[in-house]
Amino acid sequence: MAPEIEFCPAPQQLEGELQLFVIQQGRLLISSDQSQPLLPVFRAGMARMLFPGELIYLGRMEGRHVCSIVMDAQDVVPEGYHGEDLRRLIHMLSRREFIMASRAVQLLSWRHNHGFCSRCGAATQAHGRDTAMVCPSCQYTQYPRITPCIITLVSRGDQILLAHGAGFPPGMFSCLAGFMEPGEDAEHAVQREVWEETQLRVRNLRYHGSQSWPFPHSLMLAFHAEYDAGEVCPDGVEIIEAGWFARDQLPLMPPQGSISRSLIDSWLQGGGA
Ligand SMILES: [Zn+2]
Repeated sequence: MAPEIEFCPAPQQLEGELQLFVIQQGRLLISSDQSQPLLPVFRAGMARMLFPGELIYLGRMEGRHVCSIVMDAQDVVPEGYHGEDLRRLIHMLSRREFIMASRAVQLLSWRHNHGFCSRCGAATQAHGRDTAMVCPSCQYTQYPRITPCIITLVSRGDQILLAHGAGFPPGMFSCLAGFMEPGEDAEHAVQREVWEETQLRVRNLRYHGSQSWPFPHSLMLAFHAEYDAGEVCPDGVEIIEAGWFARDQLPLMPPQGSISRSLIDSWLQGGGA
């Protein structure tokens, strides 16, 4: 049996109903009618009539071809649909839908940002088979950029460490997170980020899971960690405030569907470090 999601090459002809991820000005078009499926599903001809713009083949999901369509800002959104920030949809999409939505958004920004060779400056062309842009002048091949980040929930007994980051919505606290540096492994990145942001040492790291975070091209690698030593001292730059929270005193937390919320929920359910 085929996997639920396949990143296969585009077929010669798009047959059957297409699962569509339509993007306009960075927003995903969804149905405004809650009795209808959230994401548009149409045959190719109807899809092209309703949603003008470039069509990018993404693969197959649950037996259907999946495409994204990129509409220009001035294109009229068909009645019954409206654009929404993908971050606000995360709790409404299935895991598979979020993977495909992430793929759509990331491939779009990657194509937009890699129209020219970063080595010699010539205009690039899409690779015939791979997801890549190739330079016809120097043959340098540019693949989509995926940037790994670590995210960590530190626990100490019956408390967890949550932090308010610069740029967070007011009152919201979350796990510590940061970009991985060239050369390091994820475990080192966890130790380093926790130290840099709060001056704490942690131990007993346990991998929790991962999530694509296409804003613009992160891959979150989530870990539980146990407090080892130190006093919480926020760096004051990335982390404005941080502290220990008991399960009955939790602050405003990240939205359902995000990996940070999943880390916290798994600790609440007894699955933490
Ligand atoms: Zn080149």
